[in-house]
Amino acid sequence: MKYLSTRGHMAPATFSEILLEGLAPDGGLCVPESYPSLDVEALRGRSYVDVAFVVMSLFAPDLKPAVLRAIIERTYMAEVFGSEAIVPVSALPYAGHDLHLAHASNGPTLAFKDIAMQLLGHLFEHVLTETGRELNILGATSGDTGSAAEAAMAGKHNMRVFMLSPLGKTSSFQAAQMFSILDANICNIAIRGVFDDCQDLVKVIAGDLEFKRRYHLGAVNSMNWGRIMAQIVYYVTSWLHVTEEYDGPVSFAVPSGNFGNILAGHVARQMGVPIDKLILATNENDVLDEFFTTGVYRVRAAANVHATSSPSMDISKASNFERFIYDLTGRDAERTRTLFAQVEREGGFDLDGTDALAPYRIVSGRSTHADRIATIRAVHEATGQIIDPHTADGVKVAVESGVKGRIVCIETARPAKFAATIVEALGTSPDRPSAFAGLEGLPQRFEVLDNDAAAVRALVERVIHAGC
Ligand SMILES: *Cc1c(COP(=O)(O)O)cnc(C)c1O
Repeated sequence: MKYLSTRGHMAPATFSEILLEGLAPDGGLCVPESYPSLDVEALRGRSYVDVAFVVMSLFAPDLKPAVLRAIIERTYMAEVFGSEAIVPVSALPYAGHDLHLAHASNGPTLAFKDIAMQLLGHLFEHVLTETGRELNILGATSGDTGSAAEAAMAGKHNMRVFMLSPLGKTSSFQAAQMFSILDANICNIAIRGVFDDCQDLVKVIAGDLEFKRRYHLGAVNSMNWGRIMAQIVYYVTSWLHVTEEYDGPVSFAVPSGNFGNILAGHVARQMGVPIDKLILATNENDVLDEFFTTGVYRVRAAANVHATSSPSMDISKASNFERFIYDLTGRDAERTRTLFAQVEREGGFDLDGTDALAPYRIVSGRSTHADRIATIRAVHEATGQIIDPHTADGVKVAVESGVKGRIVCIETARPAKFAATIVEALGTSPDRPSAFAGLEGLPQRFEVLDNDAAAVRALVERVIHAGC
């Protein structure tokens, strides 16, 4: 198994070689040269760890099986994810539909990002130890990715995390999750600016190739293939779970932002998991819904990205979308390159209708703040369960999609993370897992900087030389 770039100009590389990077050197994304096929039925009754090992062995054959197995066992533990099932599935008898929830957000930071990030923490540690390298991860977060990355990397050898977040713009829960991590290899930098400023700072600093090389800068953003690979696993285990005593169609509903989660579902299906429809849900930032309903891809300017109550989906340029387009063009790197050059030049492209999309069976819809509030309330009334605002977007779009049969909605965050919206919907706060009692009162450590690349660079250099 070798990896190629969606834009065609990267020498075939192994999993270990592409693991530390998001982007291919030609500006494309790394993809496996072909999708391996999986005998799903043969995995019935096996544990999450077993399924993860079978799936990941197909994508990372350059890792020794015993090493990969040990990494997976250390990552997917009941102590870390709350149960042996890791991603348990339960019925959500709501609105007369055959809905289920796949609880992917039971990890240390209460968002599904933990599923992939916990694995990356262990994989990075292994590759860095093997190669004697060190890694300085520079990232930007609007909340969930930062805390998941820090929880996964804290205390690990040979790596540091520099995480930029917009000062005062994350929820107090999210800020406390990051800033209360006091390990010496974690450096939180709160920027006087908005999330887009943070993202731009990362691009400017990582775009200085000489600086990047000298300080071994790497990324954990959602372009990282390892994250997609990790997410494929719960599509397989969830499908197996809901087909134990049911043999009708099974679809998945996915609250989407960067197209990472749903891309894993697409890959699972290409590998042979018999998924009927993939139901893509956006919030008011509906670039992807527009694309799947019209064939027109039209990126919005940063100034036109709405700040919503499902903030982890407030994205106008989905970074994994290029991997899907590569498949859609029949894995034509030339065509993919042309289309994304057009995105840079003209802000989008037009497929002339949706015929080309039909074989991929992706159904999409959008949800608004009012929809989220109404859905959280109605689900609570019908089932007693509280779902978070992102999951509510998925449930809302799923029930309106007209898709028949069983639908598994992926729960992407726990409601405790977004208490203000839950209070608005239900009048009461969601229960907070005991591990987070008093979180906001813990000691915090973070640096505050202006939106100034030179200042961030200087801090990164100082910390690398002298410690945080
Ligand atoms: C990241 C995130 C999403 C969006 O997932 P993508 O993989 O970016 O499409 C949805 N919900 C929550 C809670 C998230 O943290």
